[in-house]
Amino acid sequence: MSSPLNTGYQPPKDLLQERVIMVTGAGDGIGKACAHNFARYGARVILSGRTLSKLEKVYDDICAEKLLEPLLLPADFASAQTSDYERIAEAVMAHFGGLHGLVNNAGILGPRLPLAQYPLDQFETVLRTNLTSVFSLTQALLPGLSAVEDASVIFTSSGVGRMARAYWGAYSISKFGIEALMGIWADEMEKTSQVRFNSLNPGATRTQMRAKAYPAENPETLALPDDLMPLYLYLMGPDSKDITGQAFDAQAWCYTD
Ligand code: NDP
Repeated sequence: MSSPLNTGYQPPKDLLQERVIMVTGAGDGIGKACAHNFARYGARVILSGRTLSKLEKVYDDICAEKLLEPLLLPADFASAQTSDYERIAEAVMAHFGGLHGLVNNAGILGPRLPLAQYPLDQFETVLRTNLTSVFSLTQALLPGLSAVEDASVIFTSSGVGRMARAYWGAYSISKFGIEALMGIWADEMEKTSQVRFNSLNPGATRTQMRAKAYPAENPETLALPDDLMPLYLYLMGPDSKDITGQAFDAQAWCYTD
């Protein structure tokens, strides 16, 4: 990507000072970039994800930069139960008494197959990981989000969460569900709460998931997770205070032509 960053938004270095922000899927790809960048802008990040060793590496890297020490809360969203989400919410409240931001980012691609051949067990695993977990985690964290002023929730969508395309199966269906989740929550809470809910489509980004979806593609042609961070920072910080119920495209927002 050679396009320049959108200079319309330049976050101040203390943008996320005093904010506590949870990122799911923080061990790799876009979630890892979110965790690093939020910490660099002053946030205390809560690292959630499946593989503890990856989360520990992100923790070590953030501590090595002498940024605020993260909290690790690993979870496997393919199998998590209500009690697991309650445990996460209790830990957040016990440590911080509230939560200023949640980036629902963890996800899996699942098989690229026609629906006619899509196995039910894999369909259910994708829906559970990409959608049900997002509902349950956000629901469990709602009291914490409501306990602070100006909290922000990002739901990670996809181009195939806005337009259905062949062979994207349960992944696409899960992302349509994500858009609905975002819209319903934003509508239900707009009048009664200061929590804002928006969705974000990262667009083609150089990660393991993208490489799995497009194995023949040259990764050098793709945006890096860091390139998308202006939008993530904008949505996590106070500058987006009154923005709720919106569906964002990160690359359109972060790049000019
Ligand atoms: P990656 O595969 O690089 O990262 C996905 C993250 O989700 C990993 O940290 C992974 O943990 C975590 N995760 C997967 N399964 C589980 C689980 N069962 N429990 C907990 N955590 C889990 O993908 P991206 O960074 O590319 O994707 C991030 C988000 O962006 C996803 O929601 C994806 O759908 C979306 N997206 C990405 C695009 C792209 O081009 N990259 C385009 C459009 C949307 P672990 O590493 O431990 O497996």
